[in-house]
Formats: sequence, C-alpha cells, structure tokens
Amino acid sequence: MSRIKLLPETLASQVAAGEVVERPASVVKELVENSIDAGARAIEVGIQRGGMSRIRVVDDGCGMDRDDALLSLERHATSKIASAADLAAISTLGFRGEALPSIASVSRFRLSTREPVAIAGTEILVNGGRIETVRDGGEAPGTQIEVRSLFYNVPARRKFLRSETTEARNIEHQFCLQALAHPEIGFSLVREEKIALQLPTTTSLRDRIRDLYGVELLDDLLEIFACDRGGVQVGGWIGRAGVSRQTRSQQFVFVNGRAIESGILSTALREGYHTALMRGQFPLTFLFVDLDPREVDVNVHPAKREVRFRDPARVREAIVEAVQRTLESGRADWQRKFRAPVAPAMVLPPGPAVTPPDGGTTSVSSQIVGRDSARPSNFAPPDQADRADSLNRSRPIEVNRPDLEPQVEPRRDQQFQIIGVLNRLYVLMENPDGLVLVDQHAAHERILFEELRRRMEEQGVPSQRMLLPQIFSLPPRDAEWIEQNFATLQKMGIGIESFGANSFRIDTLPAFLEIADAAGFLRKVIDELKTTSHSSSPLRLGEDMIAKTVCRHAVKANDPLRYPEIEKLIRDLLACDLPYCCPHGRPTMIQISHAELEKKFGRKV
Ligand code: ADP
Ligand code: MG
Repeated sequence: MSRIKLLPETLASQVAAGEVVERPASVVKELVENSIDAGARAIEVGIQRGGMSRIRVVDDGCGMDRDDALLSLERHATSKIASAADLAAISTLGFRGEALPSIASVSRFRLSTREPVAIAGTEILVNGGRIETVRDGGEAPGTQIEVRSLFYNVPARRKFLRSETTEARNIEHQFCLQALAHPEIGFSLVREEKIALQLPTTTSLRDRIRDLYGVELLDDLLEIFACDRGGVQVGGWIGRAGVSRQTRSQQFVFVNGRAIESGILSTALREGYHTALMRGQFPLTFLFVDLDPREVDVNVHPAKREVRFRDPARVREAIVEAVQRTLESGRADWQRKFRAPVAPAMVLPPGPAVTPPDGGTTSVSSQIVGRDSARPSNFAPPDQADRADSLNRSRPIEVNRPDLEPQVEPRRDQQFQIIGVLNRLYVLMENPDGLVLVDQHAAHERILFEELRRRMEEQGVPSQRMLLPQIFSLPPRDAEWIEQNFATLQKMGIGIESFGANSFRIDTLPAFLEIADAAGFLRKVIDELKTTSHSSSPLRLGEDMIAKTVCRHAVKANDPLRYPEIEKLIRDLLACDLPYCCPHGRPTMIQISHAELEKKFGRKV
C-alpha cells in the first residue's frame, strides 16, 4: 500500500505559513511590505491585543481588481516576478507569492481592495484558508487587510506566542523598520484604537529618525559620509564615537530598502568603529546599503531577513570606509565647539575655601595650580615620564605659558576655559556651548594611543630585545604568511627572521607589552591578522595591542595635574583624530549645553 499522500491545499498552506508567519509581527511585516510594493503614500497599521486578536493594515496603493484579488490568495501567485531572470534581480520587497495565502490559512481574514479608477471594489472573506464570501466592496481606493484570531486553527503555534506586551513590542519594532526605510511614506500605528505613532511623510531620513526617537537622539548621530565603492553605496546616520548600546536593538541595517540581519554587515560595522566602540557594546546605526539588485540574493530565507552578497568583501570594505570617515568627520564638529572665544569664567579667589581631607586648605583654583607648584609633576611617574615626554614631543606644544594663576585673563585665542578639576578626575571646562567634562585618564589614553599608532605607521613602535631569542616552527601556511609580512611585524615591534624551513627566530618584542610566551603571542598575532579584512591596514592588530596597553601608561584618575598640564592635555586631545572617545570606546568628554543647564534649573521648559 502506498504511504505517500499529497497534502490538502489548506494543510500545505498551513505548513508553509509556519515559515512565513511566525508571530503577529511577521504578519505586519508582510502586509506593510505589500503596501509599500503597491506604491502606497500612506499606511496605517492597527493592532489589538498585541496583534493576536486583530491586525489591520490600510493603504492607499494601487489596489487590485477582482480577479487579482482572488488570485493573490493562491499560493505562488505574485505580480512581482515572472521569470528566473526576474528572480536574479529583485527590486520589490515581495516576490514569493506566499504571504497572503499563508496568513489567510491561519486566521480569519478579510481583504477589501479597490483600484483608484474602479467604481466598486472587492471584499473577500476567508476563514482558515477557505474563501467564504466574495462581494462588491465600497471602501476607498487602495487595500485593507484585516487579520483576526491569528493561529486560531493552529494551537501548536498559538502556544508559542508571548505576552500581548511582547508581541506588541515586536510589532512596533517591525513598524519602525519599515518606517525608517521609507520616510517618503506617511505611517501611523494605532494600538487598541488609540494612535500610538503618527509619522508624516518627509524627504529626509533625519526627520523620520527624529519623529520616531526624539530630537535628542540626533545629537548622538552623525550623517554618514556618503560613499560609493564599486557600485556599493553606503548612507544613513550612525552613532558618534563613544555612543553605543548594550544590545543590537538600535543597530538598523537596510540593504536595498530591506531591513536585514547580517553577520557580515555587523562585523563590518564593528571593524569600522574599531576603537570607537566599547567592548561588548553595539553601535547605534541607521545604515543604508544600496547596490545593484543582481549583486545580492534575497531569496535565502522565507521571511527574507537574510541576504547573500555576490561580493561580500566589497560590501564590507564600503561599510568600513564609510564608518571610519564619518567618525573622523565628527571631529570638526567638536573642534568648532572649542574654537570660538569664551568669556572668562568666574573663578573663585584663592584662599581657604575648601578644606581637603588632609587638613590643608585649598580652593577650586588652587586645585588647578597644585598647592605647591614646586612639587614635581605627577603627569607620569619618573620612569615613565621620559616615554610620555618623548611620545608627545613630536606634536607641537601649542601652549607654552608659565604657570599662571588661572584667574588671570585667558588668552584671546583661547578656545576653552578650564574651571577646575572635580574629584581629581574630571576636568571642568567652559566652551561656547556650555559646560564640558573631560575624563583626564580617558583623554590621555586617546592621546597616547594615537601617538603610538602614528609612530607605528611611520617608523615602527619601540621594541625591546629579548634576553634569549626564541626559535619556533609553524605550519607551512602560517610560515608563508609570516614571510610575506615581515615588514608589518617589524613595525609592530616584532623582530623575526627565518631560521630554516618553516622555522623562525624571534628576538625583539614591542617594548610596551609584557610577553612571557613569545611564540604563543606570535601565533595569536597571526590568527588575528589573518582574519582582519584586506582593506583595513594589517597594522590594525598593532592598534589593538597598543589600545590594550596605553591604559597602564596614561595618567590615572587621582593623579593631580597642574594647570599647564591640563591645558596641554586638552589641546592634544582636540588634535586627535577621534578626540571624543578613548581607545576602548569610552567617552573622553561630555558636553552639557547651556540649554540643558537652563532646563535643569527650570529657567526654560
Ligand atoms: P508577494 O508579495 O510575494 O508577491 P503576497 O502573497 O504577499 O506575495 O501578495 C500576492 C500579490 O497580491 C502581490 O504580488 C500583489 O500583486 C498583490 N497584493 C498584495 N497586497 C497588496 C496590496 N496591499 N496592494 C495591492 N496589491 C497587493
Ligand atoms: Mg508580499
């Protein structure tokens, strides 16, 4: 007896629906995508009880005639592709012809649609995949789809739904993704009959981000330095250096207008941020990658969440470059804030204003000068002072004024006014925008890091000779790699030479690292270098080494600095490529604007 049976159509649809319709948010995604493909200018999404009891999507798009409306409910029926050639270059969001029949098979479904020119529209009612009613409808031009009692006939799926709040949150996330990808479309979200979000049409992504997340977020963002690398265009907005999130929830990435999840793109973002991102944190991005649809395969996942690139390296390089250039462009912004002259700050007269715990007397101003200026500088411990000094020597020292009392009139070209040091850690300053707090340790880390990096690129980092050179062998492929990269390793302070077939002798190591096991260290270097992309300089790994170690050499919190030292620290910081975060991605400065202060003091609402 034969055991194989063809599944009845409705059951087959339910099976297929399992892949496309996972939860209420997937219904919203599919329906909104259809509305976008239909050329809608306005889309309204209404939900009740987290979408479990009702989802309604209304658009003013092209609508359908009766035949098409009936066909749209058949599996594999689509107006978007017709041939294999079309499949190779998809420019619409949909193309599988699966969403409507899938959704209709697991819900009580109503489709009402009308073409703009038609006198009457069509209304179709479907129950668990069975068409029950087809009649004339009198709605406005466009399409309305209502999905009630989702999964009412698939108890297994129903059980997997989360709470109403969670499902509503998922829907909202999906809604935001679509709204971000299409600022030119007006969107509204109605929850339990109340308007939750109303987004007017706009021509700019910036306005859409503001309408969704509030105007404050814009302060944390930089517009991507638009770049086109071999046909891969990258645009959008990304978080400034030092701005990050604990989860990926605000890492939005769109490829040809489609929100996607992609390991390749996340890695590229991370690589672009590099030292501007704290470990374990995620960047905040509204990243739009656009490329020829023939270069990307969207037919990878039934829910179309993933894509495959024909040339992933090119996409990655385009992103890394765009992110790097954008982060560095943010520097000009900061520097501008420190350029305009500042009115001299009111500085407390010297005198016994504050009694420190050690019983001596000090004041805000004397904190800056140091109570006895004769005391040797604590900028760096004596043994390291030389190094810190030599590191800084190549950079012109712009301020070279004697140890003045700070209440003396500041120089006319002064870009900022130092007010004092809080808790022996935070430098308080005034600039034209308001108050600035600088973390002296983080700031010094950034300065040392960039200085060492520059040295590494130009003449190589300082290295030190090992007491006993070490000889070791490597597998042939690694050996070959080493031979090709002698010069890079040299710059990183690693002195190595061939010592017979696949064997090497290592005799110098970077001076600023404490390495017990030279061969183990080198193996790690090789592994990490091999995984970095070709585009980024192989010296990147050297940067990582440096970033890990500058921390030890930078001035610490609690190191009291004298006024000229602080001033130099700030000027050196402002001259850095990425002044606003330390090499571990933590912020170095925080600006509190006059407006924020006025708000806090209730002067302005
Ligand atoms: P796909 O989007 O992959 O083509 P769907 O099942 O989502 O498959 O939709 C089937 C077809 O129904 C679409 O190709 C389109 O022609 C039509 N359609 C669906 N939704 C709408 C809508 N909101 N407005 C106009 N036509 C629509
Ligand atoms: Mg579709």
